[in-house]
Amino acid sequence: MTSPARPPRAARPQSPSRPKGQGQWALGYSEPLNPNERMKKDQDGLAVRERILNEYPHTGFDGIDPQDLRGRFRWWGLYTQRRPGISGGRTAVLEPEELDDRYFMQRIRLDGGRMTSEQLRIIADISTRYGRDVADVTDRQNIQLHWIRIEDVPAIWGALEAAGMTTEESCGDTPRVILGCPLAGVDADEVIDATGVIDQVVERFVGDTTLSNLPRKFKSAMSGCPDQCTLHEINDIAFVGVVHPELGPGYDLWVGGGLSTNPKLGVRLGTFVTPERVPEVWHGVIQLFRDYGYRRMRTRARLKFLVADMGVEWVRSTLEKEYLDAALPDGPAPLPPRNEGRDHIGVHQQRDGFFAVGFAPRAGRLTGTTLTAVANLADRFGQGRIRATTTQKLVILDVPGENLDALEAELAALDLVVRPSVFRRGTMACTGIEFCKLAIVETKGNARDLIVELERRLPDFDEPIGININGCPNACARFQVADIGLKGSLVPDDNGEMVEGFQVHLGGHLGTRSRLGRKSRGLKVTADGLVDYVVGLLETYQEHRADGDTFADW
Ligand code: SF4
Repeated sequence: MTSPARPPRAARPQSPSRPKGQGQWALGYSEPLNPNERMKKDQDGLAVRERILNEYPHTGFDGIDPQDLRGRFRWWGLYTQRRPGISGGRTAVLEPEELDDRYFMQRIRLDGGRMTSEQLRIIADISTRYGRDVADVTDRQNIQLHWIRIEDVPAIWGALEAAGMTTEESCGDTPRVILGCPLAGVDADEVIDATGVIDQVVERFVGDTTLSNLPRKFKSAMSGCPDQCTLHEINDIAFVGVVHPELGPGYDLWVGGGLSTNPKLGVRLGTFVTPERVPEVWHGVIQLFRDYGYRRMRTRARLKFLVADMGVEWVRSTLEKEYLDAALPDGPAPLPPRNEGRDHIGVHQQRDGFFAVGFAPRAGRLTGTTLTAVANLADRFGQGRIRATTTQKLVILDVPGENLDALEAELAALDLVVRPSVFRRGTMACTGIEFCKLAIVETKGNARDLIVELERRLPDFDEPIGININGCPNACARFQVADIGLKGSLVPDDNGEMVEGFQVHLGGHLGTRSRLGRKSRGLKVTADGLVDYVVGLLETYQEHRADGDTFADW
């Protein structure tokens, strides 16, 4: 294998305050300091495409190079699934190959969450034909399939690419899918439509091999949504719609957000970015991350650590001096979100008079068969435009008023609810132990059971409530920013045995009063005791809340 071409860099003076010894390329580290960096230097992750298409379907699973299987495949959205039947307690003690099933998860990137009905039908058909009819809408607006065999990947990619979709850089140490508002371009109150800048960045930079060996993943959001549904606070980079008093609509730039095991909320650089400069500025920040990001330890390789160590002023001045053609003007902060829920569920009138209809599956789990039906409904009742949201939900756009009731009824027949309970609306779950090799706990099934029981036992509870269920500390379903955040862990049961359960975090919130949830040392619940715990917690809140209280304040 050949070494990738590293982008040229000018020699830079070393700041005395700059953390040393973290493997930053900009400080002259050229040799990999861990096996992941070695794998990336040996060959760029994107180069594995050729072998996935032309070699491995013939060798079969057993012929796949382990460095490709557990490394480079991710650059094309392929992860090995967890072998069924392995308990959460064994997750940390088994070798990766002992956890590997012979099937893959396939993530399909949907920048801005946008799909046509034709594209959704193709995803749905792949799910039904090759993936045992399972499909998950993720909280980053992707669709993730399961049970994929290596032999079927060429046909799957062929079908996706023929319809204008890709799995490129949907995982790996790369610029991942760019979040966008599902109502971009149709919301009457939006500050600015970010569709064009998302498309420009994707077209110019996804697949660019100067950006495909980052220290770790790089998550982006671009939106003028008045609800701020793309959650700019927890992305590596976010462009948030604002109106500059002299320069008009554009974006406020945020950097350094991210959750996982060391959560940090993003910070404003205090700059205004005109739409024309978004690609340049996005490119500048990702290059800064590539060059200055920490590469010694993967647990510290996200942009958030660099931003926290070096501070906003260093990030802004380095960005402007080393990566941009000209300094950025100062700009205003975003207004508070219009709706703290930020999810686009329900019926909302578009600015052209049609309606956007957002609906809720249970914790993002669907089938290919159901997705085919959704695509057909989007054609029958709308104009074939479908969006995924950042809360594992879907939206059909462009529905005439006279079609609303019929569409809502047909969705309900598919168990897709336009006016869901607060529990179905507010509950998310990550992949969990069903498929994820890192998981300690089952999640999607626990979420479904929890929703059913909460609806049955607390039918009058009507306050918005976020319940985010995660199978391990990696926070893919954002447990730190939920009202009730559940982090998969082994916890003691009544007999002192360690069993699957959750560490509880309470009071997380994004919006006007962004804060991370509080972890209480004693607040652990077994998976079997989850329903009773949440019901008891909410009943206690109902009993004691005063007028004007919200659960988030309690
Ligand atoms: Fe897997 Fe953990 Fe992420 Fe859930 S939070 S999908 S268990 S890595």
